[in-house]
Amino acid sequence: MARVYNFSAGPAVLPEPVLRQAAAELVEYKNAGMSVMEMSHRSKEFEEIIQSTEQLIRELMHIPKNYHVLFLQGGATSQFSMIPLNLFKKSKKVDLVHTGSWTKKAMDEIKHYGTVNMIASSEDKNFSYIPKLDKSKFSKDAEYFYICSNNTIEGTRFTAYPETGDVPLAADMSSHILSEVIDVNKFGIIFAGAQKNIGPAGLTIVIVREDLVGHAMDITPIIFDYATHVKNKSMYNTPPTYSIYIAKLVFEWLKNLGGVAEMQKINEEKASILYNFLEESSMFKSPIAAEDRSLMNIPFVTGSNDLDAKFVKEAKSAGLVTLGGHRSVGGMRASIYNAMPVEGVKKLVDFMRKFESENK
Ligand code: PMP
Repeated sequence: MARVYNFSAGPAVLPEPVLRQAAAELVEYKNAGMSVMEMSHRSKEFEEIIQSTEQLIRELMHIPKNYHVLFLQGGATSQFSMIPLNLFKKSKKVDLVHTGSWTKKAMDEIKHYGTVNMIASSEDKNFSYIPKLDKSKFSKDAEYFYICSNNTIEGTRFTAYPETGDVPLAADMSSHILSEVIDVNKFGIIFAGAQKNIGPAGLTIVIVREDLVGHAMDITPIIFDYATHVKNKSMYNTPPTYSIYIAKLVFEWLKNLGGVAEMQKINEEKASILYNFLEESSMFKSPIAAEDRSLMNIPFVTGSNDLDAKFVKEAKSAGLVTLGGHRSVGGMRASIYNAMPVEGVKKLVDFMRKFESENK
């Protein structure tokens, strides 16, 4: 079977050249005589892999020297508890903007250790927008200010970040890391599960400012203390070695393409092809406020469950797969991460146009 256009929200499409290179190196990696999967994480070859992976992400995101880059396991979900465990010192209070399912899960964990000061929420309109923030609600003594900068399920993203002064800004960037240029200096901590824009599931990348490391609460398990991983260069225990290797290939691919600024232009082009069609279509609509629309996750609806189901089924037969919306929201969703070619989005829009004319 030929490769399809895969619009999955994650694990998601990877660049085809990366998969081909991984295939070529699968059985014997360079002169190692074995696969990266079979290699000790303490071997010279793997040391080189993890070091260049770190170097590449530092280059791509212009990560300043006073930030650590950690390669962890546990998924983005692990950070919902690791952040409070590591950052809570006194007030045990977190300022948070509630924008959907992923901030709900983060809140549930924070409440195990402290309190949430909800600065704003978009729950009133089904999380279809990013709320405006009233600075007078920000707490001076918050341990950190938490956002999910791109909401994978709902399809919203922050286009400007809150100015939080001395309070560190923590962002879940799982579904849009490396898709647009961001200023790392604005953040105390950035984290992302790999399985969207970075590589296979199993790897979680944490970018944390150095002054936030080394103050974990006494109850923190050693494995959840950032200091453990900083001290051991992400080798306290076995890191997800193969996922790190694929991340390295993805970063090389992105660098060759011109880096994040170039990628952003392509992502803006891809998203506008789909959003422009949604504006002109009389069948398909975007439920999301125009100014807050994600470049990566694009939900759309027809207004009829039957028609939605028919669309997803027929699209699949046409080689456009995983277009069903998240089980909590229904409708459709096209996730068009970095590795989705412009061609894939054009094919999707052509198919939507045809479907619309056939189902008037
Ligand atoms: N945050 C966001 C924004 C996500 O999209 C996801 C996964 N889809 C998660 C957190 C959870 O990630 P994981 O499954 O790696 O724990």
